[in-house]
Amino acid sequence: MTATTHRFEAEVEQVLRLVIESLYSNREVFLRELVSNAADALDKLRFAAVTDPSLVPEGTSLAIRLVPDREAGTLTVWDDGIGMSREELVEHLGTIAKSGTRELAQKLAEAKESGDLSLIGQFGVGFYSAYLVADRVEVVSRKAGTGEAHRWTSDAKGTFTVEAAERDTHGTSVILHLAEAHREYLDPVRLRGLVERYSDYLSWPVELRTTKKQGDDYVEAFEKINQSSALWQRPRAQIEDDKARELYRHLTSDFDEPLAWRHFRVEGTQLFSGMLFVPRHAPWTMWQPEAKHGVRLYVKRVFIMDDAAELLPSWLRFVRGVVDSEDLPLNVSRELLQDSRVVTTIKKQLVKQTLDMLEELAKERPDDYATFWAAFGPVLKEALHAEPSRAAELAPLLRFHSSETEGPTSLAEAKARMKEGQPALYYVLGESLAQAQHSPHIEALRKKGYEVLYLVDPVDPFAIGALTEYDGTPLESASDAKPGEGDEAPDEDRGAALGDLRSRFRTKLQDEVSEVRLSARLVDSPVCLVMPPGGLPPHFERLLRATQKDLPKQKRILELNPSHPVIENLRRLLAEGKAVERVDEWIALLYDQAKIAEGTALDDPAAFTRRVTALLKDATERMAGG
Ligand code: ADP
Repeated sequence: MTATTHRFEAEVEQVLRLVIESLYSNREVFLRELVSNAADALDKLRFAAVTDPSLVPEGTSLAIRLVPDREAGTLTVWDDGIGMSREELVEHLGTIAKSGTRELAQKLAEAKESGDLSLIGQFGVGFYSAYLVADRVEVVSRKAGTGEAHRWTSDAKGTFTVEAAERDTHGTSVILHLAEAHREYLDPVRLRGLVERYSDYLSWPVELRTTKKQGDDYVEAFEKINQSSALWQRPRAQIEDDKARELYRHLTSDFDEPLAWRHFRVEGTQLFSGMLFVPRHAPWTMWQPEAKHGVRLYVKRVFIMDDAAELLPSWLRFVRGVVDSEDLPLNVSRELLQDSRVVTTIKKQLVKQTLDMLEELAKERPDDYATFWAAFGPVLKEALHAEPSRAAELAPLLRFHSSETEGPTSLAEAKARMKEGQPALYYVLGESLAQAQHSPHIEALRKKGYEVLYLVDPVDPFAIGALTEYDGTPLESASDAKPGEGDEAPDEDRGAALGDLRSRFRTKLQDEVSEVRLSARLVDSPVCLVMPPGGLPPHFERLLRATQKDLPKQKRILELNPSHPVIENLRRLLAEGKAVERVDEWIALLYDQAKIAEGTALDDPAAFTRRVTALLKDATERMAGG
């Protein structure tokens, strides 16, 4: 077969360029990327051999070999893993087939324009990093179970060629024609150092080709230069931070370091071990329901699958890692995972390990925990809704905006700041920080100097319901009416003095609110709406109404602030029989104001505008002396 020439996909060129531009000061990572690909190819072969042992014939070494050749100026990364067919060479090395990568390439290009290259941290640089050190790369590959080999060649200038080739065993050789300036990667000492640093976590042997003089001849030998035992199988004391980091990179393609990691080994009725990682950034795909997540699953050291989502609840979908089970069958499928008792046990343990890891992070490295919270807090909070029974366990991990602090604070800190006589910890829900901060519901609390937590995340209204107390202290919403709370609350004499005004409000708004009463929570605002016990919170109502048009009107309680000048003036006007029709207009206006403050859309915005305009007209006329 003759050679064929192909053009790279446009995105590939973009990625290539970005990799080279952003990593030129860190070229040595190419070796880690190529060795990591080789290890994946060996993993895939061993997995395929579970059902078809003939794929691994006698004499297969299942190793990764580094072959420096000084005369040719080449470094070869060799493996006898799964290999690639002709079509696979074209597809895997010439296009960006992986979903998400295309989008990422786009984002990277945008980020580059804005000069922010930290995004490269979220991007697996992979095979193309070969061009950090090589002018030309050849890939000779033979797919396991087939007899044909092919050679892919490119100098990364827009095209690559593919042609028939020879290869003794299945697997892949990546032959790097090193640029003159990068011949240091032929030096055995340098190669050993890099493998020790970047690839020591791998369970596959990495061997370096050496030549020894025997008599007058040179003989070739392969020397193992890594430990070749899976990192998670080693005792905890022998797992160094940097090794864990490299395993994380291998699993995730995340160039950045993880925020935290944890090793575990469980030896009960079931045996399993593994490592868990918390990334530093949220992936692009965090809020895409179809996005992959979960850990990499091994069974007795045999790689089974990536993204085993069944092993983690969806509120821990940011966690990455590996789990190696001794009890699952080697031929386990995703379907089987879904109702396996073994999986239930593993999942329980992974949740426990993760929560312990987060608690430790919060305690020992609060700044890193804040980074974690900013990236993944909203996901973790889903747990309150999904598994309310975990509320007490999760409470110490939660962070909230607060009236008392610049950044997010914990419930423990808020509790420690409680004022003498403060009966509860208070929060208010809002769609933005500004809305929560200016909520009329918190005026009296703030005046008393009580702290208020601002819950402004879309998930908060659903999550917070599970949390009614923290460490023995009740947690209360500033906008809910408490059972038994009523008119008597603030100041009865004043209330009586309101006289007809309250009945006027009641009559005017009888279709809108369930009750009109005096408020103990208002200071600067004349009115507010509060939720009756057992009522449907505003956010919930909005959500339901979107799908259920005929949802009955949810009547809330309107509270009046008897000390407010507007209320006092209205009372006097009514008592003196002045401007009676306009009082009704102003009542409607106050009611609309209360709705706006709680974030509810007005039924008749035009009427609201008309009333405000009338007010402005009066005010401007008065000021202009008209
Ligand atoms: P990634 O490894 O993140 O998928 P790469 O650019 O490193 O991205 O590799 C692209 C694809 O090429 C891999 O997913 C794999 O299918 C294939 N590949 C790369 N190296 C090898 C290898 N040594 N053996 C078999 N397949 C390989």
